[in-house]
Amino acid sequence: MATLAPIDLRSDTVTKPTEKMRAAMAAAEVGDNVLDHDPTIRRLEERVAELLGVPAALWTPSGSMGNLIALTLHLRRGERFLAPRGAHVLDHELGTAAWLAGGMPEVLDWDAAPGRPSPAAVRAAAGGPGPYYALRTTLLCVENTHNAAGGVVTPVEAHAELLAAARAAGLRVHLDGARIWHAAVALGVKPSALVGDVDSVQVCTSKGLGAPVGSLVAGSVEFVTEARRVRQMLGGGVRQGGVLAAAGLVALDGIDRLAEDHANAATLADGLRDLGWRVTRPETNIVLAEVADPPATLHRLAGLGVLATPMSGRVRFVTHRDVTAADVREVIRRLGAA
Ligand SMILES: *Cc1c(COP(=O)(O)O)cnc(C)c1O
Repeated sequence: MATLAPIDLRSDTVTKPTEKMRAAMAAAEVGDNVLDHDPTIRRLEERVAELLGVPAALWTPSGSMGNLIALTLHLRRGERFLAPRGAHVLDHELGTAAWLAGGMPEVLDWDAAPGRPSPAAVRAAAGGPGPYYALRTTLLCVENTHNAAGGVVTPVEAHAELLAAARAAGLRVHLDGARIWHAAVALGVKPSALVGDVDSVQVCTSKGLGAPVGSLVAGSVEFVTEARRVRQMLGGGVRQGGVLAAAGLVALDGIDRLAEDHANAATLADGLRDLGWRVTRPETNIVLAEVADPPATLHRLAGLGVLATPMSGRVRFVTHRDVTAADVREVIRRLGAA
């Protein structure tokens, strides 16, 4: 049997830069971003701050660095932070929230909806000011969309309620918005509607938007001034980074097209369900399948030229710009024929 051309549904990070991105990168106006400011990075930072409705933003090479910078600034050693089960800051950043930012993690269950704790759970976990020997809780991290829960969306109202509960308990709030664009498109709202007055927000241009590199961490001017120092400490000060930011600017033009990825994920989930798979009903571009033996299933899928990843004990499929509706039909055809 001839090998089937692989269809890569492992992540929305596997996209290759488009011709338009490569052209923009080649033509990018650049400067030394550590000394003064690279003009293209500055344009990207200003545009993202505006999209998020916050005063300022800072470019970082990765989303993990953006999250780490925010947690480093929000937490003092030994302070506790709250995050929903499966959050990227808990499970996918090698524990840096604890051993670099110094935070004691407290996992919040998804008692409101998949991926989402309730305001009451936030209030209960935050507690109140205790005696001097009590651990202090000072930060709530939220994630929208929530990756490990299957790309689920926290709606505007629910986000505002979580924020209000955190504020009432005296907590700061960091929003991991790696896929905030997906949430905004799914809800038909502006990204800024899902931010509100959080203390910081991290967003990726290298996920569904398809830039090869780059995230931004955003907040107040004071926050970003300090964030720039922490980025430098972590080795994230790049010089002529405008070459990378140029692709990010092109990527931002593609927010609306994420609706296609969401439609493809829905088609994939329907097709898998028709074949007898137990799958989530995707709200955005991620489909999770419950299988008895994820490694064995992934191996079998790879044999059919269908690439996926393990996630929270399940198999995760992610649709993205480099996967077409025809590719999704082909995935269903291959699995049906096997
Ligand atoms: C991918 C991701 C990040 C960080 O991404 P990098 O791979 O470090 O750029 C942060 N949060 C969530 C929810 C993610 O999916």
